[in-house]
Amino acid sequence: MAKRDYYEILGVSKTADAKEIKKAYRKVAIKYHPDKNPDDKSAEEKFKEAAEAYEVLSDENKRARYDRFGHAGVDGQSGFGGRGGMTMDDIFSNFSDIFGDSGSPFESFFGGQTRSSGRRRGQKGSNLRIKVSLTLEEIAKGVTKKIKVKKQGKCETCSGSGAKDSSSVQSCGTCGGSGYVRQVKSTFLGQMQTTTVCPGCNGSGQQITSKCTSCKGEGRKLTDETIEIDIPAGVEEGMQLSMRGKGNAGKASGPAGDLLIMIEEKKHKYFSRDGQNIMYDLFLNFADSALGTSVEVPTLDKAVKITIPPGTPAGKIFRLRSKGLPSVQGYSGKGDQLINVNIWTPKKLSPEEKEVLEKMREMPGFKPKEGSDQKGFFARMKDFFE
Ligand SMILES: [Zn+2]
Ligand SMILES: [Zn+2]
Repeated sequence: MAKRDYYEILGVSKTADAKEIKKAYRKVAIKYHPDKNPDDKSAEEKFKEAAEAYEVLSDENKRARYDRFGHAGVDGQSGFGGRGGMTMDDIFSNFSDIFGDSGSPFESFFGGQTRSSGRRRGQKGSNLRIKVSLTLEEIAKGVTKKIKVKKQGKCETCSGSGAKDSSSVQSCGTCGGSGYVRQVKSTFLGQMQTTTVCPGCNGSGQQITSKCTSCKGEGRKLTDETIEIDIPAGVEEGMQLSMRGKGNAGKASGPAGDLLIMIEEKKHKYFSRDGQNIMYDLFLNFADSALGTSVEVPTLDKAVKITIPPGTPAGKIFRLRSKGLPSVQGYSGKGDQLINVNIWTPKKLSPEEKEVLEKMREMPGFKPKEGSDQKGFFARMKDFFE
């Protein structure tokens, strides 16, 4: 799409001086400002277009190049990355230049304080972070934990108001209790009325004449609290849960922060975890693996018996369906328990045991056979990844 002429965009003549250009840009920028034209794509385009035009025409060198060569003389050279690469942030960050001071009259008119609604209470409390260590059994079922935390709690004496008694709470003299003050400012747009949070009461609309002695007017105190935390089944190490409003109390009846709970998994005696699956290493003696047997294996709820068929090699994996963990997202179905067979190799042997094994060693049936269907660890890994 062909670019429009920069002078045309700003509505100025080719001989306009710097002051005229600035003035023209202000006018266009206000007209198409996104705060005045929410969700209006074409206004946003015009707003960007004007910013680009101003960027070039306000710079003597760029303007000279533009006058001689047109768009070709300045494309790719503008501070915004040329071809339409100008972001809204770029534009706003340049506003202080155009709107003087900090660009603040503009901001307080279109955005900022005037947009906030409702009375602002005291300062919000900070978030509280704790760690909760869980066993896999707890994770399997979900658990309610009672955790003692030290935190800023609401002062019982004054119920968080920070005032000594009800008669020491008065309507704020500065704002008359509204929490807001109106100011009339002279701006480039003319006289403008702005509403800001009352500096006298910080928006609460109240002033306290005498403070609660227990909390020294803070409305909160360091307390020990036992919090009950419901932890859903299936959580994982590193996950963070949050409980709204269970963090530190705010100052002077301000809202409380959140309680953030970091999940830790305790190491299990038998099991490790892979997502929703539970992994278990089973050790069999050589005779059992060769002759077959039945063994008890632990699971997260109770032990179960599994049959080991004759000739079960090391590395064989048995799967106990749905003996793993539920999904924390609430999908139906559980993971499985995977049982990896290992062959137990004794390290210390009695003379009698040695004798038995010496006999075995000589028997042809115990020799590893070339080309059998038994696979070693690396071969199984290869199968797994291919
Ligand atoms: Zn108090
Ligand atoms: Zn006030």
